[in-house]
Order: sequence, then structure tokens, then C-alpha cells
Amino acid sequence: MTGSLLASYDVVLLGEMPLTAAQAATLTTWTNGGGRLVAMRPDRQLAPLFGLTPAAGTRADAYLKVDTGAAPGTGITGDTMGYHGPADLYTLNGATAVATLYSDATTATANPAVTLRTAGSGRVAAFSYDLARSVVQTRQGNIAWAGQQRDGTDGYEAAEMFFGTGGQPDWNNLDKALIPIADEQQRLLANLITLVDSANKPLPRFWYFPRDVKAVVVMTGDDHGVGGTAGRWDGYIAQSPPGCSVANWECVRGSSYIYTDDPLTPAQARAYTDQGFEVGVHVTTNCRPWGTTAALQGFYSDQLSNWRAKYTSLPAPSSSRTHCVEWDDWSTRAKTKPANGIRLDTDYYFYPSNFTRDRPGYFNGTGQIMRFADADGSVIDEYQATTQLTDESGQSHPGTVTTLLDAAYGSKGYYAALTANIHTDFAASSASDAIIAAPAPRSTT
Ligand SMILES: [Zn+2]
Repeated sequence: MTGSLLASYDVVLLGEMPLTAAQAATLTTWTNGGGRLVAMRPDRQLAPLFGLTPAAGTRADAYLKVDTGAAPGTGITGDTMGYHGPADLYTLNGATAVATLYSDATTATANPAVTLRTAGSGRVAAFSYDLARSVVQTRQGNIAWAGQQRDGTDGYEAAEMFFGTGGQPDWNNLDKALIPIADEQQRLLANLITLVDSANKPLPRFWYFPRDVKAVVVMTGDDHGVGGTAGRWDGYIAQSPPGCSVANWECVRGSSYIYTDDPLTPAQARAYTDQGFEVGVHVTTNCRPWGTTAALQGFYSDQLSNWRAKYTSLPAPSSSRTHCVEWDDWSTRAKTKPANGIRLDTDYYFYPSNFTRDRPGYFNGTGQIMRFADADGSVIDEYQATTQLTDESGQSHPGTVTTLLDAAYGSKGYYAALTANIHTDFAASSASDAIIAAPAPRSTT
């Protein structure tokens, strides 16, 4: 990193890392000369540049509240939101607080969580915590709880990493489950980047979904060889608007994850696939820990091989849900899926009912489909589509989806791709009908 390298960039995002004195000086000189620097838990050498005075100590796994009256807070929730990992403590010394640290969900502290400052002819913004790390931990859970039986149900699931036991709080505060806290904090970052660079050029912002819709439902179902898939999908065709375009996301379509002994014939599967449905594999480890990584790969090899032998003309499945959503550690499952051509994972699953307690929302703080991160921070090329809606979690339907859609379309702006698992074992499902009916009044907006 040199001054001449930095000179070719408008904005630099600085992750959490120690800096040498020379690096701190280079960044300071570049910023004062017009650079835009946005940092996450920056090295304290940069405190003067950010207009901050360091205070003793840190505050970990607490809350922040965004000032929605200032430009970077526009559109962000004014409710307190949890974050993970340590935040450094500072007092303001020339900076403006964009967000303030809270010691709990309701108690403000004197320390900023996010700050903004003009520095020379440049601008700087700082998160006192590592936003990137916090987003990963919010979305993927507490790694220390991985592979533990915490919810008393089935084998191990990814949701165990969010389930507080013995008086522990849950990993994310589900009294605030409706707030997609990871998404909102990322939107704050996007606002900051746009704002600090606004004097240079307008930056493009891309919308999440086709047709500018604010929310979508990703409809999926697990079929354990029972055979409701064809009937359910006939219903979806009948429930679709006449003349709808699959490519433009106007039709009701879905994925069904099946056991290969399913009554769905190869010819049926081909016909539905041609109409925009996905026939996938409901890979099972028999609701038990898979053992070694090689053993897990063996489950995929065997079951995908059997599926290909039967459904010879279908494209390889690109998404899946695992039977019992078995998830034994931080990332082995997330890495095994792309190794087998499966790019979208739905195993993060809001379940069981003593966890959901019929609270509509986002147990892992997100309604956005993003890639996983490994324990060392590297990106895993597998997309995490959290299943927020199920027909086995004690959730009210359509109340749950209606609440989430209202939060997306109303002033809260909690835009989301909501993944549903409405089992396709049987064709008829009141939960499926309720979810499909719920968005109808909004589909033309
Ligand atoms: Zn299953």
C-alpha cells in the first residue's frame, strides 16, 4: 500500500488489522488530500484522523443505535440492534456520531459505534466494531456452540448456534427478530460509502430483486418419497397469473427436495423443470451426525448418483435442503455442497417452535441471500438462503409472512428474500396456500 496506489481510488475500505506507523501515516496523508476512508475497528493509531479519543476497554456483543436524523442513517432502523465481537471505546473529538453504542437493548453509553468526519479535504467514517466479522457471526451463529445439542430436537442443526440454554440469552435477541440487523448494518455501510464519495461522483446502487419488488418468497418443500410434489406444483401453476413470465419472476414456482424413490416420474420431472420448477435432492444423513468429511461426501455422492441415474434428463440440482437440516460444525456442510454442484443452501432453519415462539422474523439477522464465510474469514462459494418460514415451527400462517411483507413494503424497509419450507410430501397445504395468497395484493406494485 503506497500513496500512489491509494491515489487511484476514490474510497478505501479498511478492515480490522494492525497498521505500521508508516501505513497509518500513508492513509492519513491520502485522506487529508481528498481520500475517502471507511474503516472497521481501525488501529488506534488512526484515532486522530477519525476525530476520536481512545478510552480504556472494549464492549463486546452489545447494541448500537443509529441516528436516523443524519444523512447516513436515512432509511435505517432507529431501534437498537445487536452486534457481535468487541467494539473499541472512544469519545468524540471532532467526529460526529452516526450511531451510538448501547450496553443493552435500552441503555445508551457515551461511546460512538459509528462516526463520520471531514479530514482535510477528505472524509472518514469508522465503525468501532468489525462490521464484517459481526455480520458473519450474526448470520452464521456462535461458533463455540456448533455441534452441540442445544434445542433438544433431532440431531445438530445450524440453529443450535443461536439457541441459548441454561439462562443464556439467544445469540441474537429474538425479541427484535423482525429487524434484519445484519442487513440494516450493511445498508448503513452502503449509505456511508455513497455519502463520503458524493462530492466525487454518484455511485450506482443496484436493487435486490427484479421489477423493483421489495420482497420475494423462495418457495421450497421437502418430499420424503411420499409424492406430493406433482400435485403441489399443479396447484402453483393454477395459482399463477395467466400469461405470467417465469423469467420475470411473475409465476408461482418452487423447488422440491425429494428422495430419489419418489413417485415423481422422470417424464413428470422433466415437464415441471421445463416450466421453471427445480427438482432437487433431499440429502439425508439419517438425522444423525455425518462423522467425517469423507463420510459426508459419501452421502452426497451416493444420493446424487442415484438421483442422476433416475432423472437422466434433468439439470443437476443447484439448491438443496438436508433432511433434519443436520449441520454439525461451522462450515463443512457449506463447503461440501458447492463441491457437489449445489450453490444455494437452505439449511439455516427457523425451528423448533420453542425457538421461534411464533415470532416472525430473522433469527440470524438477515433476509438477504449471501455467501458463507469460513472460520478464517475466507468466502465460501455457497449462498445461504435462510429458511424463515416453515410448516413445522409453530408459526402462524399467513400471519408470519404478512408481518414480514408488511415490514418490507412499509416504512421499515426490511427488504427480504423469504425462504419457505412447506413440505411437498402431500399436495394440499393450507400453509402454502396462505403464503401464496398473502403477497398477491402487492405483486403489481
Ligand atoms: Zn426431511
